[in-house]
Amino acid sequence: MTMQFAAMPDDNGYFGEYGGQLIPPELKAIMDDINTAYEEVSQTEAFQSELQQLFADYVGRPSPIFHASRLSSKIGGAQIHLKREDLNHTGAHKINHCLGEALLAKHMGKTKVLAETGAGQHGVALATACALVGIDCEIHMGAIDVAKEHPNVTKMKILGCKLITVDSGTRTLKDAVDSAFQAYLEDPFNTIYAIGSVVGPHPFPKMVRDFQSVVGREARAQFLEKHNKLPEIVMACVGGGSNAIGLFTEFLPDEAVRMIGVEPAGKGLDTPDHAATLTKGSKGAIHGFECYNLQDENGEPLPVYSIASGLDYPGVGPQHCYLKDIGRVEYVAIDDKECLDAFMELSRVEGIIPALESAHAVAHAMKIAKDMPVDANILINLSGRGDKDADFVADKLGL
Ligand SMILES: *Cc1c(COP(=O)(O)O)cnc(C)c1O
Repeated sequence: MTMQFAAMPDDNGYFGEYGGQLIPPELKAIMDDINTAYEEVSQTEAFQSELQQLFADYVGRPSPIFHASRLSSKIGGAQIHLKREDLNHTGAHKINHCLGEALLAKHMGKTKVLAETGAGQHGVALATACALVGIDCEIHMGAIDVAKEHPNVTKMKILGCKLITVDSGTRTLKDAVDSAFQAYLEDPFNTIYAIGSVVGPHPFPKMVRDFQSVVGREARAQFLEKHNKLPEIVMACVGGGSNAIGLFTEFLPDEAVRMIGVEPAGKGLDTPDHAATLTKGSKGAIHGFECYNLQDENGEPLPVYSIASGLDYPGVGPQHCYLKDIGRVEYVAIDDKECLDAFMELSRVEGIIPALESAHAVAHAMKIAKDMPVDANILINLSGRGDKDADFVADKLGL
């Protein structure tokens, strides 16, 4: 099993029937160059030692695992443990792959990193990594998102990145992706595209997974050292799927460990207002790859919704689609209300304000822990902290 998963994806970038490169030939040639460079550079001692050093001294890795014992005893079932990615520099897991991508750009001799951003989380993490590595950064963002996401826009400016406001189409993430790809095609020689999750054309789902897999490597070793056994369940929220695959990868060969990915059910799975791609989607193409999609009858992405803007995507990483089909990972959905309840509960019982994204995973753990024995363990990837969500939640709940 280890080999089977380690070897994923195949040479064409497929995980089973998902992934690949559904892109114009000129872009395919560029992606293949990135793949070749990645395979060479990422194996070198120089690259690995620089990345590991930055993980330690800059990000603050390893992130600890915290036993949420008060929350666990209040629920009265399994023990809940949190892998504290919220304690990373910049407050979430995204810095792990952004540092990898920025370093790769530098080692490939590129002078500029290009990306799109929706709510701005990826933009801020990438602008941070580029400032550190000393490479130009250009972020495309829809005009509506620019107006909405004030703190992240300000941070990107302070960090010195060039922000391109996209005024075409729906003026949101989808148009930002198109605009960024357009800019990329104009100068693929000096620039590199940095995708924000385990999505997009090959090799991004593989590369971003590899950079995020540090989370699961640390977590498995930390848990074994402390408890002398593995957790019964590991769990994470799934937007594009990078924090989840980062935790899951190291545990994939441990067949006794159950894995659960938690999607946003938004206002309900029977309404149009959710983003539960694996739960409710069907196979299709989006942004250059094949995956489960929330799409209309013409294969166009549906407008999706989640209270957590980081989970608000109509596609999902191809490896998750494969893991769902073979039954290795279960995917469930948590709605806005359950998410908000978990957000408040973790804040008040443990003094940890989670990101609304991460609160989806906490909510599902709270749901199932009560029916498990007290000596069972659930390990959650707490993907980020909730500073960015605090005002919104306080408003929403009238605090
Ligand atoms: C972006 C984000 C997510 C969702 O992205 P994945 O690629 O699914 O991990 C989850 N949590 C936080 C805190 C985020 O910023």
